[in-house]
Amino acid sequence: MNKQNKGNGRRGIEWTDYTWNPVGGCKHACRWEMPDGSIAICYAEMVAERVAQSAYANGFEHHYWRPELLNEPLKLATPAKIFLDSMSDLMGAWVPEAEIEQVLDICRQAPQHTFQLLTKNAPRLLKFDFPENVWVGVSAPPSFFKGKQLSFTQQKKMVQRQLEILRQVNVPVRWMSIEPLSFDIAPLLKNSPLEWAVIGAATNGPKTYQPRPEWVVNVLEVLDAQNTKVFFKGNIDWPDAEWREEFPAEAGEVTAILAD
Ligand code: SF4
Repeated sequence: MNKQNKGNGRRGIEWTDYTWNPVGGCKHACRWEMPDGSIAICYAEMVAERVAQSAYANGFEHHYWRPELLNEPLKLATPAKIFLDSMSDLMGAWVPEAEIEQVLDICRQAPQHTFQLLTKNAPRLLKFDFPENVWVGVSAPPSFFKGKQLSFTQQKKMVQRQLEILRQVNVPVRWMSIEPLSFDIAPLLKNSPLEWAVIGAATNGPKTYQPRPEWVVNVLEVLDAQNTKVFFKGNIDWPDAEWREEFPAEAGEVTAILAD
């Protein structure tokens, strides 16, 4: 597992403690169109291009199964938040069911940890029983998915469908990564099942494109009304006094609350 650096001059993913990738590679080919017309590729794909050739020898759009990494969370006694699939989409249609079950079984064996799963293939979530310590999340849609450009209408439908599916997933924490916040998503999130939302700006390499302030205000209003916790990614320009880095209760905390 890779520990995330969250000190000053942050690197890595701020909302997690570790990333864990027994499954690697992804065939979703997400791309984002930036406000200036430039196209950003998936962060994981960029990382894969930088790491040793042997780790992604057949390219990022290929499935890699690394069973030697399965037991990593079991070696860590201190409770931690672990991003389950930062270099893949565990729910991707190409990932064999038996491998997903092995990953979820490790999550069951490590109740001290909170596993943060994120997918763009929400329908497959309905095929699995998730342990309570897995936060099951969906991502805001990209501009291009599996090589095809998504219209604004298709993006909105994708959000609605994801939330419908998430409502049927029986876990304590259901969440959404809204990164980037690239349109006024607030109306779609009303009465949503979200316990947590991560909100970020659009980035392409070193360039950052801020969401319109009213989009942030609107989404906060909707999420606050339904008591959804909010975490701002560090790339958002927002006043310190209104900054949010909230989390839902984690695995160990839920048990403690129930025992009180
Ligand atoms: S689903 Fe995730 S890992 Fe896969 S291409 Fe999209 S952003 Fe990258």
